Amino acid sequence: MNFEDASGYAGEAERLEKPSTPDEVSAILAEASRTGTPVTVLGAGTGVTGGAVPTGGVVLSLERFRRLDIGQGEARAGAGVLLHELQSAARKAGQFYAPDPTHNAAALGGTIANNASGSRSFRYGSTRRHLKSLLVAFADGTVRELPRGEAIDFAVTPVHRPTTTKHQAGYQLAEGMEWVDLICGSEGTLAVVLEATFNLLPAPGDRLSGVVFFPTEAQAMDAIDAWRTIPELCMLEYVDAASLKLIDGPKAGAALLIEQEHPDEDEWLTRLEQTGALEEESWFGTAESDRERFRKFRHALPEKVNDTVRKRGYMKMGTDYAVPIARHREMLANYRQGLTEIGGDGVVYGHVGDAHLHVNMMPANDGEKDRAWAWMHTWAAQAVELGGTVGAEHGLGKRKAHLLKLMYSEAEIAAMRAVKQHLDPRWLLGRGNLFPPDLS
Ligand SMILES: Cc1cc2nc3c(=O)[nH]c(=O)nc-3n(C[C@H](O)[C@H](O)[C@H](O)COP(=O)(O)OP(=O)(O)OC[C@H]3O[C@@H](n4cnc5c(N)ncnc54)[C@H](O)[C@@H]3O)c2cc1C
Repeated sequence: MNFEDASGYAGEAERLEKPSTPDEVSAILAEASRTGTPVTVLGAGTGVTGGAVPTGGVVLSLERFRRLDIGQGEARAGAGVLLHELQSAARKAGQFYAPDPTHNAAALGGTIANNASGSRSFRYGSTRRHLKSLLVAFADGTVRELPRGEAIDFAVTPVHRPTTTKHQAGYQLAEGMEWVDLICGSEGTLAVVLEATFNLLPAPGDRLSGVVFFPTEAQAMDAIDAWRTIPELCMLEYVDAASLKLIDGPKAGAALLIEQEHPDEDEWLTRLEQTGALEEESWFGTAESDRERFRKFRHALPEKVNDTVRKRGYMKMGTDYAVPIARHREMLANYRQGLTEIGGDGVVYGHVGDAHLHVNMMPANDGEKDRAWAWMHTWAAQAVELGGTVGAEHGLGKRKAHLLKLMYSEAEIAAMRAVKQHLDPRWLLGRGNLFPPDLS
């Protein structure tokens, strides 16, 4: 059977299993453990690093784990529930599930495995922060509820953490860490997530959303620095001129997507004037329909990039690096230098509030593809040099597993391998994810 994720990365498995109860998952894992069969966990397949793409063995889909109970301040949901289903059920109950990865048809299990984050992570953080407990199955078939607060019961050697506001590359080992924090972000390599309890927040009050256009990238960068500390700003996203052109947006040098809770509209008028924004052309709204319109505008971009790359016969080639906020202009200068040297079509957009921009190349020939691939590595090294991370939200999966060595020392990787060995002694879960072949 053939499988492919949203990046176009493909692989094969001997069979696909779709269990609907923890006992069924447990039996599949126990059998795989006995026979030494690799198990790749599949959510909705929207990942872009090949994490859910098998290299043989069994694919375990969680799509039948569909429980969704909304309580006061929390929701219990199966791993196969889609993100937008939780978001809308919470909204109907007058509550709010804060994480908002752009692809809202991702399965909740996948968002937990990747510790996914989105535009509102600028204020609300990534998925990990919103987890109350996890129901998981380990490689040997043991099923266990892991409440927040419960520390792991074995020793780990801590690894360093970059001084970025977002980070999702490797196990974030720390002394006395909790199970929830270990499993969340482990990319299907340590346990299968079956269900989770999520924190729900009270519905936010008034919100102003906007897409603000600027004549130049430089003016947008100045606005970012000026606006980053606005109270209750929950979104600060960037879209460059090439991105606007790709999605047939207005002709402008750059755009910023913003969202603020309890806004003062007069203050925004002053901010637009002070930063030289294109006031007349900019869009603002306060209704849910406006927020959805702006989300679709932003979501169209990665979709269009992925379509274009596939039509041209290549796989997605996009960065997911973040740097400390104070270094974001240096990193942008690196990106611009690389894009000029690569030539052809490339776009820069994303979570600029967290100094986490996605650069996506759309090569039209093998020369551009080879130069883009070389620059992907150079930019990763530059991000690390600036104190950043090689993975801020997409994880490393298989396509970016080689970057683990760029970021961590041999001793740190040995510490991660020891955890993998402890929980999955035959290295069956998510084989090939995080650890490239020479490390697994
Ligand atoms: C257009 C587009 C926009 C995107 N925007 C964002 C964004 O804004 N933010 C962001 O963080 N990501 C984004 N992504 C990436 C992707 O949507 C996320 O990584 C998402 O969390 C993947 O969820 P999924 O259910 O599709 O997982 P899959 O692709 O099916 O799997 C991803 C990984 O999770 C593991 N996994 C899946 N389910 C489980 C489970 N139940 N237990 C254990 N492991 C499991 C898989 O083995 C794999 O390693 C985007 C992708 C696309 C195509």
